[in-house]
Amino acid sequence: MVKCYFCGCEESPMRGVHLITNLGAIEYYCSSKCRKNALKLKRDKRKLKWTVAYRETKSRIAASHAHIAAAKAAEEASARSVKKGKDAQK
Ligand SMILES: [Zn+2]
Repeated sequence: MVKCYFCGCEESPMRGVHLITNLGAIEYYCSSKCRKNALKLKRDKRKLKWTVAYRETKSRIAASHAHIAAAKAAEEASARSVKKGKDAQK
């Protein structure tokens, strides 16, 4: 199944436009909204909230932030255990 080049939704029968570029690549646009945003307005699909690319980018960033947060939590936990060890020695 072909996906829309801009928004990432599945192709529905009898809708949208297949655009063949000079390089031979076939781009499918599900609606005039997607076609205009990509070709006329030249918008970045990763910056528009209604596209799949935006959600994928956002989830990837959230995953990287979760990784950093987990590392910070582990550091804090180890620091606490070291502090407790020092308190116990006193
Ligand atoms: Zn689309």
